[in-house]
Amino acid sequence: TVVVAGVLLAAGLVAGWAGAPDRIAVPLLALATVAGGWYVVPRGLRAARAGALDMHFLMTIAAVGAAFIGEWGEAASAMFLFGVAQLLESRSMDRARDAIRALMDLSPAAARVVRDGRELQVPVEEVRVGETVVVRPGEKIPVDGTVADGLSAVNEAPITGESIPVDKAAGDELFAGTLNGHGALHVTATRLAEDSTLARIIHLVEEAQATRAPSQSFVDRFARWYTPAAVVAAALVATVPPALGFGDWSEWLYRGLATLVVACPCALVISTPVSIVSGLAAAARGGVLVKGGAHLEQLGRIDLLAIDKTGTLTGGHPTVAAVIPLGAGTTAGEVMRLALAIERHSEHPLARAVMAHGEHLGLRPGPSSGFTALPGRGARATVDGRVIHLGNERLARELGALTPEAEHELEAAERDGTTAVLVVSDGRPVGVLAISDRPRPEAAEALRLLHGEGVRRVAMLTGDNPATARAIAAEVGVDEVHAGLLPDDKVRVVREHEAAGRRVAFVGDGVNDAPALAAATVGVAMGAAGTDVALETADVALMGDDLTRLAFAVRLSRATVGVIRQNVAFSLVVKAVFLLLAVTGYATLWMAVLADTGASLLVVANGLRVLRVR
Ligand code: ADP
Ligand code: MG
Repeated sequence: TVVVAGVLLAAGLVAGWAGAPDRIAVPLLALATVAGGWYVVPRGLRAARAGALDMHFLMTIAAVGAAFIGEWGEAASAMFLFGVAQLLESRSMDRARDAIRALMDLSPAAARVVRDGRELQVPVEEVRVGETVVVRPGEKIPVDGTVADGLSAVNEAPITGESIPVDKAAGDELFAGTLNGHGALHVTATRLAEDSTLARIIHLVEEAQATRAPSQSFVDRFARWYTPAAVVAAALVATVPPALGFGDWSEWLYRGLATLVVACPCALVISTPVSIVSGLAAAARGGVLVKGGAHLEQLGRIDLLAIDKTGTLTGGHPTVAAVIPLGAGTTAGEVMRLALAIERHSEHPLARAVMAHGEHLGLRPGPSSGFTALPGRGARATVDGRVIHLGNERLARELGALTPEAEHELEAAERDGTTAVLVVSDGRPVGVLAISDRPRPEAAEALRLLHGEGVRRVAMLTGDNPATARAIAAEVGVDEVHAGLLPDDKVRVVREHEAAGRRVAFVGDGVNDAPALAAATVGVAMGAAGTDVALETADVALMGDDLTRLAFAVRLSRATVGVIRQNVAFSLVVKAVFLLLAVTGYATLWMAVLADTGASLLVVANGLRVLRVR
């Protein structure tokens, strides 16, 4: 109908200029008005009946009013331009939303599965969990799974935002939508296509885009009292001056109508959502999942970044540096045997180091029962009928197992900057594992970037001992250190900072930091692609392990907030200027509509700029 309206409008205007009598031009323009208003008027009336005066309603009155005073050309062009603006706006919003849909296209539609010993091409939806999928070099990986056979480097940028390929060997995790390198891989599917990590990311981002950000509800609230106020103001403009004898009625009625059109809050209403939707899409493309516009805005405004140490600041590849047996008759091998039996059940980053060391020594982890994680302290399990504890100094002290010899070894390990883990058997210390847990290579750079993005302080919150914590802190450039914390203490530290009026982002690996993630203004989980909990509990999830992505996320948030501010300010200024012009009679109806359309489009274009933040 917009096209029909345009054609009729053009015909009517040309007819008018060509000197055709009104008998021909006016019906054309009237038809153009009807065509242009085909969708606008019913919506306006529906909104009015629901008690909400929206911009469709404003435009309807304006067009009817213009027609009433015989300005059919104005009525038709107002409707036409408004229709064009609406069309372009919805197109742009779709574009921002499509940026996220584009991620979906990353996953291939078909997979090559092995069934009855033969390779078979089937739609990805039909791949069952446990089936083997063959991925050739250079192909996209079609399903989430683990490598059963083969060696390759996989580009995981679609999920994690990191474009450096990751080496994959048997047992490693793969994500649908990532790109296989030079090796051929046999992959055991671990998830159905619809549950793949990529599918869940897309789902979560779409959900996030549907939720409203605070600045958005501000704009909505504003529009709610603003629109009726505009109608009243327009009515006053149309009636008061002529009633007081300042000119004739039709002149002021016209100005009143122009005021009404100017009052249309189109640009203002669209300014925020388009920026937020773009921001969320840009984040997802950069490997950062932001679960709502609100979190996106908050991330750009944080004052303090609280960060977990083990597994977050550190934890690329922790390694066991030394195994020291304690007491007569104990061997390093026995200490490792007990540690392995426990750590096989743990998901802690240090447990991975112990497991890797065992594998390196050719040891097989033996059985244990009743494994219990003791968050911030260690873990416990029963091995060969004995209760074995494994953990830090705090745990040892609680067990009364901190003998002078144990304390001596713990201190020696801490002096070397390693994290000391004590193994305790039935309350008696039997050995110390010195685990060297180096900062991630990019940690210092990431914190520098974050400081550059306006994050004033970075605090390390860790359950590890103060000496090791301070050594790491100095190395990466942390401003304050809180060591020896239990998970509840981390919550307390976060709350204290918030009580002091600071906005706190807490970054953790999601293993035992869920309470702190929840307490913080914004909870950020790292390495979320593999862990469901982190994906669920955090407000913001870095899909990969790269801390510099966090600086990107903060920069993106700040850019989004900045664009929103520009858009709101710009819309208000344009409105103010045209309001003056309308009241003083300088702005015609179609100019007012054009200004509104132009402002909306500029605001939308500005919002889409966020998509390009890298
Ligand atoms: P952070 O707060 O730095 O992430 P955690 O709270 O995860 O540290 O753990 C604190 C301390 O508890 C570690 O430094 C370690 O000494 C001990 N610990 C906890 N779980 C384990 C485990 N599974 N194996 C070895 N040590 C552990
Ligand atoms: Mg941790």
